[in-house]
Amino acid sequence: MMQFIWEDFLKIVREELGSRVVETWFKAVSMPKWDAMEKVIYLQTPNAFVCNWLEKNYRHIFQTHLGRLLNVVDPKVVFLTTSSQKDNLPHVNAELEICVPDVKMPHTKTYRPAQIIPYRSKNTDVASTKLSERYGYINQKYVFETFVVGPSNSLAYAAARAVAQKPGGLYNPLFIYGGSGLGKTHLLHAIGNTVQAHNQKALVLYQTADRFVSEFINAIRFDKIERFQKKYQLVDVLLIDDIQFISNKDTTQEAFFHIFNSLYDARKQIVFSSDTFPQNINGIAERLRSRLASGMIADIHQPCLEVKTAILKRKAEESGQVISDEVAHFLASNITSNIRELEGALIRVIAYAQLTKEVITLALVKKVFLHDECPAKESVDFKGVIKAVSKHLSYSLDELRSENRNKELALARQVTMYIMKKNTNRSLREIGAYLGDRNHTTVKHAISKIEQHLSADPQLQRQISAIEKEFER
Ligand code: ADP
Ligand code: MG
Repeated sequence: MMQFIWEDFLKIVREELGSRVVETWFKAVSMPKWDAMEKVIYLQTPNAFVCNWLEKNYRHIFQTHLGRLLNVVDPKVVFLTTSSQKDNLPHVNAELEICVPDVKMPHTKTYRPAQIIPYRSKNTDVASTKLSERYGYINQKYVFETFVVGPSNSLAYAAARAVAQKPGGLYNPLFIYGGSGLGKTHLLHAIGNTVQAHNQKALVLYQTADRFVSEFINAIRFDKIERFQKKYQLVDVLLIDDIQFISNKDTTQEAFFHIFNSLYDARKQIVFSSDTFPQNINGIAERLRSRLASGMIADIHQPCLEVKTAILKRKAEESGQVISDEVAHFLASNITSNIRELEGALIRVIAYAQLTKEVITLALVKKVFLHDECPAKESVDFKGVIKAVSKHLSYSLDELRSENRNKELALARQVTMYIMKKNTNRSLREIGAYLGDRNHTTVKHAISKIEQHLSADPQLQRQISAIEKEFER
């Protein structure tokens, strides 16, 4: 019943204020409670910012229309908010609380939805800001020349190069995804550097998605939306790093969606990086998701031993050191596949050598890692998992991949997925694809099922640790 009233209310507001306003401000609200005795309507809002905004600009809308639908004159409206830490707003408790307008709001009574402020050139705020301030900063250290290419990253590298050569061309938007420390940020900056080298006038903006979110929130709070939008709409190449951080930020997504569209229509290049495939980013509006995935998608995998060795040698060279093949090989095979960690290990070795004034030899490297409390080990691959699973649960890869839903086999399959997720750095999607083209949600479901059983099933615990023991050999 409440649901119907709420839907009718949204319909009325849509007619009165337009659907953009509804999408931006009203869709995130719900009406958890209506106290008919006291005539109080409780409205749940996602964060303090929305809460204050509604309070200031739309209280009367709620009062009038909900009042009419609920058949009362002049109901009281109480806005509630849960934690708004999501949007980094201050002064808000994590618990459900009554919203007190404590967030600085623009001093305006009139409503200004973020995304439909028309572009007005008379506002020259933007032009007077320093260029470097406006257009972020590209790290000159990250260039294509220092990026070591191998089978794990060649697609992403080639796509990035193509984009840098011809921004706004074939691969737009370019979406690069892969695990942490595998070179996504490096490629984004490399694109920026190349574009800038070819055309000094090109406006290239690198921004991380979380900074984009806080910038947007500040822009609204301090009434700088126009300036914010213009900043983004003027760029030639927009590089957004870690776009997954925009998830669950509905209003920011809305604003970003419009920026995306206007850049895309103007054939400006947009590049995203993310830790997962667009389909796997949670809490993101469908239409934005489809935009993200609408161009070229390139992934970066874990590098193989050769690439890791080459990267180490290159990095050592960059810091003016030479390391032997033996040393590079030792580090590459003993450190997990994350290149950031690999670099960290190398830096530690170099620092140790400089400190003790020793030459970097294999013996020295081993000494450094002997002191390591938690020696990094090479992560196991899918084949290794299958081998161990087959040994203990006696199912073959073909059986695990099959459609057969025999109870025991299905459990073995779920255990395999669980072990793969825990022991390899591969994504749910990759695990699903490997095990008979299964959907990532199936894998996710399987993993949480095993996790649930594990605590109450010592036999399952024993089985899984026996399988995992195999990896240590
Ligand atoms: P991500 O953004 O994917 O987490 P980064 O781009 O920050 O990873 O890379 C982490 C570090 O590893 C950086 O110092 C980067 O220069 C280095 N790196 C990653 N991939 C390569 C590569 N293929 N060749 C050279 N250096 C790399
Ligand atoms: Mg990064």
